[in-house]
Amino acid sequence: MPNVRYLSGFSGSNGLLFVQHHRSTLFTDPRYDLQAHEEADCALRIVSGSTWEALWKFAARRAKRVALEGDRVSHQEWMQAAGKLGRGAKLVSLDGAVDRMRMVKSPAEVDAIRASARLCVQAFLQAVRRFRPGMTENEAAAEIDYRMRRLGASGAAFETIVAAGARAALPHARPGVDRLAAGQPVLIDMGANLGGYMSDMTRVVHLGAPPRKFARLYQAVLEAQQAALEAIRPGVEARQVDGAARRTLKKHGLNRFFTHSTGHGVGLEIHEGPRIGAKSKDTLEAGMVITVEPGVYLAGEAGVRIEDTVVVTTAGAEILTPAAKELVVLES
Ligand code: ZN
Ligand code: ZN
Repeated sequence: MPNVRYLSGFSGSNGLLFVQHHRSTLFTDPRYDLQAHEEADCALRIVSGSTWEALWKFAARRAKRVALEGDRVSHQEWMQAAGKLGRGAKLVSLDGAVDRMRMVKSPAEVDAIRASARLCVQAFLQAVRRFRPGMTENEAAAEIDYRMRRLGASGAAFETIVAAGARAALPHARPGVDRLAAGQPVLIDMGANLGGYMSDMTRVVHLGAPPRKFARLYQAVLEAQQAALEAIRPGVEARQVDGAARRTLKKHGLNRFFTHSTGHGVGLEIHEGPRIGAKSKDTLEAGMVITVEPGVYLAGEAGVRIEDTVVVTTAGAEILTPAAKELVVLES
């Protein structure tokens, strides 16, 4: 639904938008009558029964050629559309056109993401103060989610990751019953959903002073993140930003442990365009909001990832995540 929201303002979970040159029409069901009238800035059709049926009936009478978001509908919905439109009309795929529009944010959208990122940092600082050895990852994640809600978020942007000790070597660790322990790091990857706009940040805290090897690993990732941030400016290919992080890690002999891409776009969705990876064909433009999140994962041993949400500006990159990046050492 993010594209419907982007084009119409309507944030309900059942809505189809029919866009014509001169106007747009939103189809939804009676549960969303009030909400649609409040949020949507287009014509409305409140439909009891199938919204798809109503849409195709409407479209068949008005269009010779209809583009459907082929990557967002099911095969069944596509086949139904082809049948309902009838022989006179042609069905084509929109191929991510709206997603491409969404990559460059308006100033109001950047402000919304900035507010989301600020809330995320506040919740992080409040939650981390309560981290103690013996606490489970689940308890720590619940603390983070609770703080985000208390600060005004409608929820987490994605399932909060809290990975204790060697579990941080799993880039997408789900919090479980493992316990935080003194003398061990904890990786936290979290994001807030504030007014529909997401933020994304990763920090690593250490319970007690870190061993020298871990501190070195952390510094290498921080250096890589800095290099990627410095590579950001309009006109630069996204893969060059990824390359900057990888080259830095290579100097430390760690690039083969960096097993995912450097970042992704953030907005109404937590993962959207552009992609910041080695195979990306995207070019950065001012107004794009992306994450920069290199990481190093040593299986069975340790993991470090440092992630900020940033906006591409004419001058380079502005970090929207106002949190310090030195390794946070908690007294344990
Ligand atoms: Zn993240
Ligand atoms: Zn991310």
